[in-house]
Amino acid sequence: MEMKQINSHCYYFHSAVNIGYVYNGDDGMLIDAGIDKSAIKKVIKALKQHGLPITHLFITHAHADHYGGAKYLQDNYDVRTIAPKYEAAILENPSLEPLYLFGGNDPLDDIRNKFLEGPPVRIDDKVWEGNFTFGEFELETFSLPGHSYHQLGVKIYDVLYAADSYFAEAQLKKHKIPYITDCALTIDSLSRVKEILCDGAVPGHGEYETNFQDTVRKNIAYHEQLSTWLEEYISDHPDGVSHEQVIVDMCDAYGVENNQLSQWLLYRTAVTAYLIGHIKRGTITYAIEGNRWVFKQLKKGED
Ligand SMILES: [Zn+2]
Repeated sequence: MEMKQINSHCYYFHSAVNIGYVYNGDDGMLIDAGIDKSAIKKVIKALKQHGLPITHLFITHAHADHYGGAKYLQDNYDVRTIAPKYEAAILENPSLEPLYLFGGNDPLDDIRNKFLEGPPVRIDDKVWEGNFTFGEFELETFSLPGHSYHQLGVKIYDVLYAADSYFAEAQLKKHKIPYITDCALTIDSLSRVKEILCDGAVPGHGEYETNFQDTVRKNIAYHEQLSTWLEEYISDHPDGVSHEQVIVDMCDAYGVENNQLSQWLLYRTAVTAYLIGHIKRGTITYAIEGNRWVFKQLKKGED
């Protein structure tokens, strides 16, 4: 995990899941906490070596890879912990993630793993979009839903810690169908991120870039390409196609092979996010037919 400096106040620990760090005077704020104890321990060790303080933690959204290390940090440091409202409810009650992914059923033990559920986190300040002062820090938050319900990006000292609002190009290719919850909101948030005035941005997965707008545009193009595939696929099935079949065919088309329940649940949500995008655009409609959730193309003049 490499500690990378962005400017005189801003750093990030570059890893599969980035952890941001900002400091000013006696205060130091981590932005996200990594997936587990071992990830955050590496960060703590590096900050100690540099004699840098840890006083605050800002969690951008309640995905376990971003908050799994938070409890260890809280157990060992007096950190004022800040998170978006609503995401905070999940951080305080982390079994909510396997619960929602499991469609509301009591989650099986199989999906209560560290990728979907971290240890519970105490949240001291629940924030929404706006300007805030915490200790020595003045920061601005931006609501960026679409990947997680109330995800916030953080702009501080002209650096945007963009959370998972966009991914590095390599990440898009790796995941094939990126994890999102609503394609329409994802694209709205991406359009917004492009316009945020700052020196550069660092995503949750990827590297700091000054010309991050280019990567954001590639994200938009990627989601649009998947959306177009889905629209054509639905139009090729004039009698409608079931939710389960859409998941099978879209995963097959993009080379996604699921062999674990937790992984399949994430892809089910991602595929459904593209369906939701089309429903919101008015290009696809749905019905419950034969006890199945069925999707059809919405022809012009129909609604
Ligand atoms: Zn995430």
